Amino acid sequence: MRLPEIPRYPLTFGPSPLQHLRRLSEHLAGAQVWAKREDVNGGLAFGGNKIRKLEYLVPDILASGADTLAVAAHLGLRCRLVQEKWVPWDDPVNDKVGNILLSRMMGADSRLDDRGFDIGIRDSWKQALREVEEAGGAPYPIPAGASEHPLGGVGFANWAFEVAEQEKAVGVHFDTVVVCTVTCSTHAGMVAGFAALEDLTGVRRRIIGIDASATLEKTRAQLERIARHTAEVIELGRDLRDDEFELLGDWAGDLYGIPVESTMDAMRLGAELEAMITDPVYEGKSLAGLVDLVRGGDIPRSSTVLYAHLGGQPAVNAYHSLWPGS
Ligand SMILES: *Cc1c(COP(=O)(O)O)cnc(C)c1O
Repeated sequence: MRLPEIPRYPLTFGPSPLQHLRRLSEHLAGAQVWAKREDVNGGLAFGGNKIRKLEYLVPDILASGADTLAVAAHLGLRCRLVQEKWVPWDDPVNDKVGNILLSRMMGADSRLDDRGFDIGIRDSWKQALREVEEAGGAPYPIPAGASEHPLGGVGFANWAFEVAEQEKAVGVHFDTVVVCTVTCSTHAGMVAGFAALEDLTGVRRRIIGIDASATLEKTRAQLERIARHTAEVIELGRDLRDDEFELLGDWAGDLYGIPVESTMDAMRLGAELEAMITDPVYEGKSLAGLVDLVRGGDIPRSSTVLYAHLGGQPAVNAYHSLWPGS
């Protein structure tokens, strides 16, 4: 199916806002930096990139007759969550705040699991499905980040076309997009969507993924696989070229979820110059990449770069020790 024909259940408020980060641009003294704010894209919990992915899963979920899925309160379904211990960050509130707290508030049956970080499909997930079935429920499985779901990349393929519409309305052109990449369907969807847009307009853009998984090669393989699959789903009609994939590993640090100095510096810049809050797991790392690429001229002065702010702020309370009070 072509992208406009793929069924979509709106969960966002509409196109997410574009924002010119004037003070950050001035400070970096290079390319002009804008943000597209997925962190304020809708009214479900605190929004974020997963909402946009789910818009294309919901029609399939409802058609399946399922009564149990991940993130469901809004649809009147039950929710069973497997929340793994992806981050070896030892803080006494780690398993009490952020998404864990939000899941509990929304009435999910949330099971904490000690297993560590892995972007693939896990046994704990398969076991949760079995348990729901054995209890007479009809589960609809959504893997981590919805990325391994066949429709997981479609939301951000559509994002490319939303950007193009907003460019016309605002009178700006983004030649470069910077996005955080972990389970990959956000970045992969963009690659497929911008490829389709390029085929229509002849205009090439650079889509730079900043890895935050710290498992770069595994993530690169997953990115390419999901992008190629999404390209097929939206009937791109050609293979993706190697130069359409750019995934950089220099800002991930050693471990998923553990901030490094560049993460902290970028979080501080965003917060102090723009009151734009980023988290230490995802967006602080991608912002760090953007800051260094603009400062170093890898993204040239003549560029107008779009930073995809994907959300993540609810996590910051577990990282309060990064900003000790006096
Ligand atoms: C999930 C998430 C990402 C990573 O997106 P993927 O599609 O998993 O690569 C980035 N930032 C935030 C805030 C997220 O929640």
